[in-house]
Amino acid sequence: MIGKGNSKLRILLAEDDVITRRLLEAQLKKWGHEVVPCPDGQQAWDELNKDESPKLVILDWMMPIMDGLTVSKKIREVETRPYTYIILLTAKSRKEDIVEGLEAGADDYITKPFDPQELRVRIRAAIRIIQLQEDLLEALKTSEFRATHDSLTGLWNRYAILGILEKQLARSTRDGDEIAVIMTDVDHFKKVNDNYGHLAGDEVLRQTARKIKNSLRQYDEVGRYGGEEFLLVLPGCNSEAAVNIAERIRLEFEETPIVSSEGTFPVRLSFGVAITNGKDCAKTDNVVGLADEALYKAKEGGRNRVVFGGKLDPKT
Ligand SMILES: [Mg+2]
Repeated sequence: MIGKGNSKLRILLAEDDVITRRLLEAQLKKWGHEVVPCPDGQQAWDELNKDESPKLVILDWMMPIMDGLTVSKKIREVETRPYTYIILLTAKSRKEDIVEGLEAGADDYITKPFDPQELRVRIRAAIRIIQLQEDLLEALKTSEFRATHDSLTGLWNRYAILGILEKQLARSTRDGDEIAVIMTDVDHFKKVNDNYGHLAGDEVLRQTARKIKNSLRQYDEVGRYGGEEFLLVLPGCNSEAAVNIAERIRLEFEETPIVSSEGTFPVRLSFGVAITNGKDCAKTDNVVGLADEALYKAKEGGRNRVVFGGKLDPKT
């Protein structure tokens, strides 16, 4: 990883000629780079398959065991993120050879004997590309996060949690595992907003989300389904266990108020629980609908309670 504005790199240098390798290594180190020297292409390839492998590689064309061209091709064959920038080192200066090198996947080339000034600018160009690549990946990560997470609570958003449920249903259709879906809603949430303002409301939602998430098992997922409504997906969970989990969360809220920068708020939750084994009914709408109906009954029945909506009938 190169930090912003940092132009020091870890560079893999594969060159079988000892003199050239040492000269290059000394030159690169002089500019502050860290060098991983390799005497042949095979060692270079092994090095590249390690974690946190160098993002810039300088490969001599002619090397024993595996030449630079082959290593280039292999890198491009398996290329995943992040990008590996390849500079081919060659005594060949005929145009066709250079074209062949670039076609094999190299980004640039340097002819031997190398000129330090030329090496310097080529490495600078490499650093620019690698930096751009890292910025791009960072931006992609941020936008992926934004597209799948709720900005207020940091939980999965509705779209993402439904996608997770859909995947779980598809999986359970295969292996017959039961999946519990729990829909929960903050009782009388509107009163918090009306009496204490939206900042307090937001804080209550954030803390509620955190509290629910902390009370789940590691492989359970929770998303913000709507305003003050959360959808929980619990794989490999039967009806009894699901109702117990919902009841435990309900009690936690009943026993401990939410303490926030906006004040202390007693928060109560209502729950609707539904179960499916995915067989013949792998539709998210159906199982979510069943949990939703149960939640409605919990509200009707006086709130602050858990209602089991039943197991999804495979014919629906
Ligand atoms: Mg050589």
